[in-house]
Order: sequence, then C-alpha cells, then structure tokens
Amino acid sequence: MFEPTTCTARCHRDDLYCDNCDLLVGLAGLHVVGVERDQGGGLTVTVESAPQVMGCPACGVVAASHGRRVVRLVDSPCFGRPVDIRWRKRTWECVEASCPVGTFTEQDETIAKPRAMLTARGCRWAVHQIRREHGSVSGIARQLGTAWKTVWGSIRPILAAAAADESRFAGVTTLGVDEHIWHHVSPARRGPKELTGMVDLTRDKDGRTHARLLDLVPGRSGTVYADWLKTRGEPFRKRVQVATLDPFRGYKNAIDDQLADATAVLDAFHVVKLATQAVDEVRRRVQQDIHGHRGRAVYHQNDPATGRALAEKVLAGFPSCPIPEIARLGKTLKQWRDAFLGYFATGGANNGGTEAINGLIELHRRIARGFRNPENYRLRMLLIAGGLDQPPPQV
Ligand SMILES: [Zn+2]
Ligand SMILES: [Zn+2]
Repeated sequence: MFEPTTCTARCHRDDLYCDNCDLLVGLAGLHVVGVERDQGGGLTVTVESAPQVMGCPACGVVAASHGRRVVRLVDSPCFGRPVDIRWRKRTWECVEASCPVGTFTEQDETIAKPRAMLTARGCRWAVHQIRREHGSVSGIARQLGTAWKTVWGSIRPILAAAAADESRFAGVTTLGVDEHIWHHVSPARRGPKELTGMVDLTRDKDGRTHARLLDLVPGRSGTVYADWLKTRGEPFRKRVQVATLDPFRGYKNAIDDQLADATAVLDAFHVVKLATQAVDEVRRRVQQDIHGHRGRAVYHQNDPATGRALAEKVLAGFPSCPIPEIARLGKTLKQWRDAFLGYFATGGANNGGTEAINGLIELHRRIARGFRNPENYRLRMLLIAGGLDQPPPQV
C-alpha cells in the first residue's frame, strides 16, 4: 500500500497525487507529476489536472478524451532557481455530430491566459519586482531564465489594461500638472521631448499627500492638458478643488477652462525656484540677499494668514524694487497673483509630492538605461509612481 499524502520514493503514481508536492508548487487545481532539473540549473515542473468528466462548452454533451497537449510556461522563480511549468493540458473532442466545436483544450486563466508565455503568478511576480523592488526588465528576465521580450511582452498588456481603467482616477481632489522631459535626442527620431505629467496630490484624512503619477501625455501645451481633462469626464473635473501648476500660461488656461470650480495654485517649488534664481542673479551682481530670503520666507510661516500677509507685501513691494532682478520676479508673481496667493487658501497645496515622483522616475530611467518607446516609458513610470494602483480609500 502506498500513502498518497507523503513524499515517498516516488510522489506520483497513476492519478494519485502528492499533497506535499502540490502544496510546494501551489498551482490551484493542478497536480505535480514530475520535477526535473534542466541543463541551466532551473527546474521543470510537470503538472496536470485530475481526470474529470468534461462537457462540451457549446452543447454540453459529455466529450471524449482527445489526448494531451503540453504547454510550457515560465513561472516565478523558486528556491533561487528559474522554474518552467510543463502543463500536460487535456484535450477533448465533442462527439455530438451536429456540434461545431470539434476538439477543445483545457483552459484556466487563473493559471495562465491562453497562449501566454508566463504563468499568471509569474506576471504578478514580475510586475511586483518593478513596482516594489525597483527591478529592471532584463534582471527579471535573468531571474526567470527567459528573454527581455518575453517578460515585457507578458506584462505590458496587464499594465496597459490597468492604465485604461478609469477607476484609478477616482477621488482626485487635488491635481498637479508639470512638464516633463522624457528624452534629449532629436525629436525627428523620437517625437516631442516634452511630456505633460498629471499628479494626484490629494491628501488623506491625516493631511498627508501620497503623490501618484496619473498620466504622462506627449507635448507641453494648454491643449494637451485641456484634452486630458476633457477625456476624464465631468464628474472627475467637478471633483477637483485644487489645481497646482508651474508658472506656464498654457496650463493655467486649461485649468480656467476645464476646472472652473478649482482654485489654481502656483506651485511653491517653482516660486521658490524663481525667487532663488532672482537672488542668485542679484548676488552675482551685488552682494545682497535680503529680498530672496523673503521670497522663500512666505512659505515658511507657521500660519497661512501670516504667510499670505507676507506674500501680499512681496506682491506690493517687489515690482517697484530698484534691483531689476527682484522687480522682474515681482512682476511675474503679480501676473500670477491669484495662483500665488492660492497656496495660502488651500492649506499649502503644493507639488512637493511631485518631487518624490521625479526622483523615482530618474531612478528608473537609469535602471532601464533609456527608453525608445514613449508608451513603454509611460506604462513603466505609471507603474512605479503608483498611477496604476487603485486610489486610496476615500475620506
Ligand atoms: Zn511529493
Ligand atoms: Zn458539442
């Protein structure tokens, strides 16, 4: 007598399967019938489903066995080794003469999609490696014992489907926009250098921002942003209360046009950058830095009212400053008066989270050693910067 629940000399006999091996491999509904080591040191695990009575999917008549069709799939690595799955799929033939089905093959999309190269969990593992472990596609391919193309070709449709799912835009009340340079080569070879990036800067119930990169679209213009806002639909646009932007008139026009109910807020980071630039220019010319400290100081006040009062002083005083660089900064801020002051009316809405995202993007540009395809770039960056996650629970 043999005991089917333990690993004895041989695990699998006829159609009695080994619980230990099945637990170890963990493909629900499939049983291990063999394990071999291949030449490269990887494992090949042969699996099959238990015999069952199968009805024809069209007419329901009990189908006759039509033998096996072996499908090879790359699975997630195990015990430090790449793993291939050999799935001995059952095939059947409908015996009903009037039925058009003919023969059909066992399918289980929880294991793998039809014609897939990777198992479903292999795909999940690969996506996780990029999302959480800053993995490179070539490194993932190495760990799986397969090719770059196989990995990216397998996960790209998953990322594209997640990107096309509009539910990821739910609950956005603070929306940032920023220009983004995605390549530095000739536009004739790779299209426009600029992308427009949209960032979810909505705060959670504790007032913290978990910035998510929502999208990257080609071009840098008000039209690009307005079109993106239009595509999101009325409920999305109505929900946005705060719209942050860098001092670029095109984006402001899009906000005025498409987000009429939102408060536009000039991004503090960019204002400080402008102020710092002005001060550096002055410093290079004369050794004086009083005004610049004030330019930054408006954001360092403990309460919005004090900050706003200081900002009003900047707006009143800077444009008439005898130092030309400061006067220029003052005039720029005056042109952006409402959006500059919007910061203090919105509890300090700012693009700070955008900086964290930019850091991640820079990291992944280096990890990937460059991108040639803008859509691959978009999907990769949306994945690593949280844009394909479902939004956090609404408060
Ligand atoms: Zn076993
Ligand atoms: Zn049939």
